[in-house]
Amino acid sequence: MSARPFLPVAAPSLAGNERAYVLECLDSTWISSSGRYIEAFEAAFARFCGVSHAVAVNNGTAALHLALTALGIGPGDEVIVPDLTYIASVNAVTYCGAKPIFVDCVPLTLNLDPSLVAARITPRTKAIIPVHLYGHPVDMDPILDLAARHGLIVVEDAAEAHGATYRERPVGSFGACAAFSFYGNKIITTGEGGMVVTDDAELATRLRLYRGQGVDPQRRYIHPVVGFNYRMTNIAAAIGLGQLERIETILAARRQVAAWYAERLAGINGLRLLGTEPWAVPVPWLVTVLLTAGGARERDAIMAALLAEGIDSRPVFYPIHNQLPYQENIHYPVAETWSARGLNLPTFEGLTQADVTTVCATLRRAVAELGAS
Ligand SMILES: *Cc1c(COP(=O)(O)O)cnc(C)c1O
Repeated sequence: MSARPFLPVAAPSLAGNERAYVLECLDSTWISSSGRYIEAFEAAFARFCGVSHAVAVNNGTAALHLALTALGIGPGDEVIVPDLTYIASVNAVTYCGAKPIFVDCVPLTLNLDPSLVAARITPRTKAIIPVHLYGHPVDMDPILDLAARHGLIVVEDAAEAHGATYRERPVGSFGACAAFSFYGNKIITTGEGGMVVTDDAELATRLRLYRGQGVDPQRRYIHPVVGFNYRMTNIAAAIGLGQLERIETILAARRQVAAWYAERLAGINGLRLLGTEPWAVPVPWLVTVLLTAGGARERDAIMAALLAEGIDSRPVFYPIHNQLPYQENIHYPVAETWSARGLNLPTFEGLTQADVTTVCATLRRAVAELGAS
């Protein structure tokens, strides 16, 4: 047993006004889905993304489903998604009765490869969901170009990338709309929560309609469409506002952590970090290392070696086309190769330089042992 405390992959820090705001909800009894924190959080988050509307919801998956529904995605439609992503990006398409169509990724960042999108467009294609994976923006210009040429809707999945910029513009401001998550391990958290952001006032109205059971805003208990209950509570929004007030501090701390990792992992044989494109300013959601050879067996051995020292890690997402509900016989070679070689390391605001040094030393030893065996 290690004497050191267990090092998780993620841990929120709630050091700002989160507590005071939550107590204010309790004291005022505004604990459900009306209240001043929801509007304040929505307004502040829209500003943060450089867009005019934000619609708070109960999680990031609901944000995606709500976005696709409000945009009219339905049965018979095809939606292009990356093969390498968190499953929610793809499930949201399935919830709409539409068919996800997978695209492979680029080795540098594991983000969707825009050069492979055109080949997957058919007369049924309705939308593309670029996912800014692990906080690194997708190359948006070619995606937006294709979308414009083929009349496709772009919905960004920015669940892992709050504050990242592409060619100096924040992610979330490129598509018809974008979905964010505030799950406990994301850049900022509300416990569970999500947001859809858009510049389109009419779409924002539709998002609000579907979020709240499809009720006619003028006539209570009249429901012109089949909506959902995807509302966020005032308590969650109170936490979110407290988090958002500190997001620059949180991002700076995460960048410092990523820089410590980069220094300590530079030049280790057999290992590389995810890269950064020249046009991107990513946010470090989860620092990700990749073995330059081998596969899942070697990667899993390294994760076990870390765990033996009390250090948690995560495997890179598995290619969706290998998940039971989505099995396909098509190969996505980049996703298959690099997913098996990748792991996420502890990345959060409260991580110290000594923690990172320990993780990197353990990682270095584990990789050396692999080479020796
Ligand atoms: C976390 C995440 C989601 C879903 O968010 P939840 O709040 O967990 O529902 C969607 N897409 C990606 C890429 C994510 O990482």
